[in-house]
Amino acid sequence: MMYDSDERRWHAVANREKAADGSFYYGVITTGVFCRPGCSSRLPNRANVEYFASCKEAQSAGYRACRKCNPTGNSKNEQNEQKIIQACRDIEQSDRPPKLKDLADAVGMSPYHFHRLFTNLVGVTPKKYASGHQARRFKDSLKASESITDAIYNAGFSSSSGVYSRNRDRLAMKPGDYRAGGAGITLHYGLAECEFGWLIVAATDRGVCAIEFGDDPALLPQQVQDRFPGAHLQHAGSDFVRLLREVVRLINTPHSSCTLPLDIQGTAFQQQVWDVLRQIKPGETLSYTEVARRIGNPKAVRAVASACAANKLAVVIPCHRVISKDGRPGGYRWGAERKRRLLDQEREEA
Ligand SMILES: [Zn+2]
Repeated sequence: MMYDSDERRWHAVANREKAADGSFYYGVITTGVFCRPGCSSRLPNRANVEYFASCKEAQSAGYRACRKCNPTGNSKNEQNEQKIIQACRDIEQSDRPPKLKDLADAVGMSPYHFHRLFTNLVGVTPKKYASGHQARRFKDSLKASESITDAIYNAGFSSSSGVYSRNRDRLAMKPGDYRAGGAGITLHYGLAECEFGWLIVAATDRGVCAIEFGDDPALLPQQVQDRFPGAHLQHAGSDFVRLLREVVRLINTPHSSCTLPLDIQGTAFQQQVWDVLRQIKPGETLSYTEVARRIGNPKAVRAVASACAANKLAVVIPCHRVISKDGRPGGYRWGAERKRRLLDQEREEA
């Protein structure tokens, strides 16, 4: 609404339009006082009113500010806006999402009024704003090249399994991103050595998405890049140590349970196969045929083998525990010899 004519300005004054506050001021010749259009004081005679674009103009024309609507101070709208902005800062700076009542108390509003005003001005509820901010902070802290586990804890989540399930929808790569080979996402990676050779561990902000074996550490980043051609790979630095140690521990002691936050990326069919694989205990094996039978698709033996080869999480998704029907180890993405040694170790420990 533009208040660009006397007609419109008078209309706003006569109707005490709060929305016009800040757009112009009016002075009352007979009292020498100037007001906001929304002022609740008695309506003056239209003939005695003149308009000003700013308080300064009104003051230099000899008017003094009305005590009721306090035109030189902040308007109610501006005050409310400032309170909501203050609440946003409070949310951003707190480690846990603040309670609605605490936020409202801090700015002197009722929780109901605060909630309505916040939602109107910000566009989302305080709760949504808080969880959105927490997710964003989670991402930002990863950008600072921290380990995924540190980032998870620093973002204020109580456990890494919690962050995995809670961020699943919000931070997940969409199916389209997956098809595009991780286009636009950043993968942090680190290298480590274990009994079975060199390892690369790569993680998205959801969790570990790749664990691969290799003989030459210099070639391992490319191996991950081939799996996620569109992703940006970034070395995670020394902060990744904790995560690497956890992976090495898992590989060296296969009977320990996996507490890693995982970001398992694959097609629906691959996920189905990998789910079956994760149920095979160390020291046990299944044939490709048996896996196909367990997913309810006994003819899909070849597709099962492909899904095993497409596994990006060595040992965590134990594709090495799937062997040929005749008992031979069969192929392994990271070398048949490595597969045999992994199986030997698990049998010995069992
Ligand atoms: Zn007034």
